[in-house]
Amino acid sequence: HELAPVTVIGLGPMGAGMAETFLAKGHPTTVWNRTASKADPLVSKGATKAVTPADALAASEVIVISQIDYGAMYDSLGPATGALDEKVLVNLSSGTPEELRKASAWAAGHGAVLLTGGIMTPPPGIGRPGAYVFYSGPEQAIDRHSDTLKAIADVSYVGEDPGLAMLYYQAQLFLFWSTLSSYMHSVALLETAGVSAREFLPYAARTVRELAEDGPMAFLKIITDEIEAGHSPGDLNSLTMQAVGAGHVVEASRDAGIDTAYPAALRDLFERAVKAGHAADGLGSVIEALRKPNG
Ligand code: NDP
Repeated sequence: HELAPVTVIGLGPMGAGMAETFLAKGHPTTVWNRTASKADPLVSKGATKAVTPADALAASEVIVISQIDYGAMYDSLGPATGALDEKVLVNLSSGTPEELRKASAWAAGHGAVLLTGGIMTPPPGIGRPGAYVFYSGPEQAIDRHSDTLKAIADVSYVGEDPGLAMLYYQAQLFLFWSTLSSYMHSVALLETAGVSAREFLPYAARTVRELAEDGPMAFLKIITDEIEAGHSPGDLNSLTMQAVGAGHVVEASRDAGIDTAYPAALRDLFERAVKAGHAADGLGSVIEALRKPNG
């Protein structure tokens, strides 16, 4: 039987991948992009090119949006608000939770429902196993359209608050960026002693893996238990010891002639927690300094 028609607005690497996936899985797909020529490769694969945003809205009930930010949505759909009534906008663009909450009210004001989302895959993962999207917004709308949305990625619904999907997304993105930036800092440091990234990789992979697994290095779980318990014991590895160690990474980086900003930020954070009374506590007590930026 006929699959639900879908419109995709925004044809960057992500939006183009989504449109291609909807087409490949058999959804009648309409596309619109500010730079119209980006629709052409999709038209050759069977997509319908909408001439105006209003045409793009008229073509489907479900409108998937993937643009650089939420400002782009207002630029694109602002002149076509008359065509928003009864539409389900599924915006997978980056933004701040506050922007998403405002966008939800804006959509509602024009008779539309907004589902906000953060997509957890780079373009090659779209439509493949393992890709998922954090969604928030009205649960009824997600229930009604999840079969359609599953074409691009698994559906991970996190709640009604329209800002929540983006908070989850940013939490994950921060983990992703900071882990990989730490890796690059470590590589830059080792390089100054003639060690290549390739040589370091197995050790780095071991640390990243062990943090998430069971065992003596299972610090994701250990820290989680400490956060939940509201106490981080430091008898085996005090925060004072770790602040001093982080200071040594700063000095080693300076001596090696590489950037010191990242380890210095860590050292400063640890020292702030030490000064706030956590000298003899463990690493998990750092969350107190994060929760209270002004001490
Ligand atoms: P970009 O973030 O570079 O966004 C490009 C798209 O935004 C193009 O369609 C562009 O139109 C459109 N656009 C930008 N400004 C405007 C505007 N003022 N009015 C109308 N359209 C506008 O591309 P990506 O595909 O990489 O990312 C899309 C979203 O997905 C982003 O929010 C990104 O954070 C998120 N994301 C990206 C991932 C990735 O790996 N690429 C992974 C996960 C999420 P035009 O072609 O006319 O310039």
